[in-house]
Amino acid sequence: MKKIYFITGSQDLYGEETLAQAEKDSMEMAEFLNGKLSDIASVEHTPVVKTAAEAEKLCVKASADEDCIAVIMWMHTFSPAKMWIRALQALRKPMLHLHTQYNEKLPYDSIDMDFMNLNQSAHGDREFGFICTRLGIKREVIAGYYKHEAVVSKIRRFAYAAAAVDFCKGMRVAMFGNNMRDVAVTDGDRVESEIKLGWNVNYYAVGDLVKIINGITETEIDAKMKEYTDKYDMDTDNTAAVREQAKYEAALDKFIAKENISAFTDTFQDLHGLEQLPGIAAQNIMTKGIGFGPEGDYKTAALGAVMQKMAADRAGATGFMEDYTYDLTEGEELELAAHMLEVSPVFAGTKPKIQVHPLGIGGKSDPARLVFDGISGKGIAVSMIDMGNRFRLVCAEIELVKQPEPMPKLPVARLMWKIKPDFATGAAAWIYAGGAHHAVVSTALTSEDIRLFAKMTGMELVIIDDKTELNSFEQQLELLDLKAKMKG
Ligand code: MN
Repeated sequence: MKKIYFITGSQDLYGEETLAQAEKDSMEMAEFLNGKLSDIASVEHTPVVKTAAEAEKLCVKASADEDCIAVIMWMHTFSPAKMWIRALQALRKPMLHLHTQYNEKLPYDSIDMDFMNLNQSAHGDREFGFICTRLGIKREVIAGYYKHEAVVSKIRRFAYAAAAVDFCKGMRVAMFGNNMRDVAVTDGDRVESEIKLGWNVNYYAVGDLVKIINGITETEIDAKMKEYTDKYDMDTDNTAAVREQAKYEAALDKFIAKENISAFTDTFQDLHGLEQLPGIAAQNIMTKGIGFGPEGDYKTAALGAVMQKMAADRAGATGFMEDYTYDLTEGEELELAAHMLEVSPVFAGTKPKIQVHPLGIGGKSDPARLVFDGISGKGIAVSMIDMGNRFRLVCAEIELVKQPEPMPKLPVARLMWKIKPDFATGAAAWIYAGGAHHAVVSTALTSEDIRLFAKMTGMELVIIDDKTELNSFEQQLELLDLKAKMKG
């Protein structure tokens, strides 16, 4: 079980009685939060910190504890912040600075100096905040009474993001083949991805997979076919083409388990030994939390796995999508997102149909794929790009809509959405920001989740939402460029 340290600051000037009370209060608070977060991580109370040595020891312990995904800090009393300098310099885990109090309301009748001295996070948290700012420590500050639902929900969001950051460390990503020839935005610095995020991204020859495919038995294919027909409607007589895909997915399952893979890419330019481009095989596997990126897009594949992890246990769908084409009816512009084949059935608004159609690219046999209309509702589209000297996340808030009319001749799954704040602004902002034509779309997560993830990983983030205005957006991009240049 992953854990979050609950760290309470004080100092040794207060005397035993006050410190004992602080200990008791913080224990009760940690226990309350543990009850609210136990499905994500256990919240562990730690003894109230009174000295610089204690602070440093605790932060070193948290940093070295591989089960610790984050720390929550708050100053019950005043806690002179020079005592936190070495501790904060040593801390290597995401920090939530919870600006709260043990008491919700003031006891107007009985309040005296003792009460004020004990319950002075208004004072102590400002001192602590100063030293964090002075040291340039990235942290999330949440202010409010810790039992209020709005505060608990923010703390839970933080914990989910911290768990996702923890998941990134050592996450293994397999690339079958390399980046699609000449494509810029899907490429990236894999070494930098491992330095910044912990993603271990490696190339495998598609032959490594073909070897496993050739060993798949008819019984294993039957089992996978049963899974397909249980979940989806068979809408083709070409069962052989579907069985071919079932064989691919059975082999991918084995490969993923053996190599401990969380995300993978393929490319239609490197399918030696495969008869079809993986279609339903890639689609069905995406429903199991595995990230996928086509055309060697390892960033989207890895981000897909991470966002699915962050969205675990939350209602909604998360998966890879590609910007394809538009309905540009004035004032009612809609985007049509799809891919050659590989759209995750988590986005299905209608029961997916298994169909076989020709694919005009790649020169292989007609691949079996799932075809469906998409869901509707609020969502985000997130693209990760490599700017050369840093990674950038572009996060757009979108409104998924029902497709206005049937598309009987379109042989792929599709989603449609409205761009915010309006088509002209949102699409231009995405393009100014350099956002890719590949993204991870989620109706489970919000831009708040992405903001937290970006903050904890030190990644640059731009958000496109209802408030986006192009002039200030372009200025923001210029400032980000300037900041990156200053950092060298
Ligand atoms: Mn693509």
